[in-house]
Amino acid sequence: MAKYTEAKCRMCRREGCKLFLKGDRCFTDKCAYDRRPYAPGQHGRARKKVSEYAVQLREKQKVRRTYGVLERQFRGYFVKADMAKGVTGTNLLVSLECRLDNVVYRLGFANSRNQARQLVRHGVFTLNGHKVNVPSLQVKVGDVVAVPEKNRQIPVLAEAQEVIARRGCPSWLEADGAAFKGTVKAVPQREDIQFPINEQLIVELYSK
Ligand code: SF4
Repeated sequence: MAKYTEAKCRMCRREGCKLFLKGDRCFTDKCAYDRRPYAPGQHGRARKKVSEYAVQLREKQKVRRTYGVLERQFRGYFVKADMAKGVTGTNLLVSLECRLDNVVYRLGFANSRNQARQLVRHGVFTLNGHKVNVPSLQVKVGDVVAVPEKNRQIPVLAEAQEVIARRGCPSWLEADGAAFKGTVKAVPQREDIQFPINEQLIVELYSK
């Protein structure tokens, strides 16, 4: 399975915003974007003329990098979103939000989506009582994500209750830290995705 292995903070600096890819570190003064809020590289601080294409591309990269999805897979999400009923941009964001690794992160069982993805790959969670190890799996309303007894000693999971209390849980999910489980209550709506993004720019980019 291919994955992006280069510096994560570089991605935030390139996109010109915090993507929160490193968990708790993103909230400390060690955050590279807070310290150097300009693009990486020799010409990072140079003023550049930004084309319409560049704006659309950056918006797409921002979303893709936030959810940790590679280009080919992201395009696949777009194609499905375009074929589905409703607004393409919203469909795209909703299907990314319904990925199992994102749900694990949102439920407070991981500090970042990257960590959530790794935990899922290692088969730490069950979905409706069955062991799962596919981070891209789409969850549905009524699905229950749980941590079996034997995995509850993993440090990040042992802290889940505290993380849920600190970070909160989106309204479309219900987290039960004490029972080490979470339920999908509803399909996420666009307003549930608190993310400064203009998804219409992504639609325009892929519609060329
Ligand atoms: Fe981005 Fe800052 Fe987190 Fe690094 S520490 S991933 S720059 S938000």
